[in-house]
Amino acid sequence: MSNSDHTRWGTEFQYSVLEWFGHHYTDEFSTEVSIPVGVVGAEKKDHKYDIANKDRSIVIECKRYNWTETGNVPSAKIRSLNEAVFYLHLLDNSCYKVLAMVKASHPKQIQTLAEYYVRTNHNLIGDVIIAEYDPDSEKMRFINGQGVESNSCHVFQMDNPSQALNEMKLEKIIDYGSQANGVIYHTWDSGERWLGRCKKCGGLVLVQDSEYHGQEDDDYYTDYFPVYSANEAQSYNLRLDGFEIEKKFPGRFLMQTNNHPTHWST
Ligand SMILES: [Zn+2]
Repeated sequence: MSNSDHTRWGTEFQYSVLEWFGHHYTDEFSTEVSIPVGVVGAEKKDHKYDIANKDRSIVIECKRYNWTETGNVPSAKIRSLNEAVFYLHLLDNSCYKVLAMVKASHPKQIQTLAEYYVRTNHNLIGDVIIAEYDPDSEKMRFINGQGVESNSCHVFQMDNPSQALNEMKLEKIIDYGSQANGVIYHTWDSGERWLGRCKKCGGLVLVQDSEYHGQEDDDYYTDYFPVYSANEAQSYNLRLDGFEIEKKFPGRFLMQTNNHPTHWST
């Protein structure tokens, strides 16, 4: 392949990833976004990231790599994946960092290249989400995490919020409690977060229950955030408290309170 073919091959993948995120997160994404970064204490310099949303709270690097023709580990490419992860680590902790890889299989290998990469380099990956995109099915899979992988619940495609709430049949699969690592999991006075799985579609929803203790009556607030994996839910739990998640969640979510009709966040 000539150099310009290589570039086109990568750019094409970058645009499919851009399209996927644009479709699944109601946010605007663009390519080749310069963000000033540097290690602690150093003067920051611009680095161009493949994809980012408008406020740069979601940053994505894209790699279209395969196993070698004979089914061996492409070691130079693994180094370049590590480099992408390194640049993602330079971003703020509050940022949702994704390394998107193309789904690459080989008859000699049991795992896809992305699965292999997560297994062998988890010590470097940290809070970077490794996502695997399959251009044939147009599906994105989030690989690293707690083994609960899925899609987000079907109701988030609906227009009518009350109908969406009615349609969502959640069973609790992970209880996160009311706080962890100094991050409070509710707004106002009390509450908790939990991960639910929709019994109808198998999709995952991060739920935040909050209560305001009034003098006469209590008010309650429940937010339903569509997530694609337990790992994605955990990435919000690590960084965003009750009010922050309502402000910074990338995309539309469902809000229910006792004194307003159920509504979409935007
Ligand atoms: Zn569902």
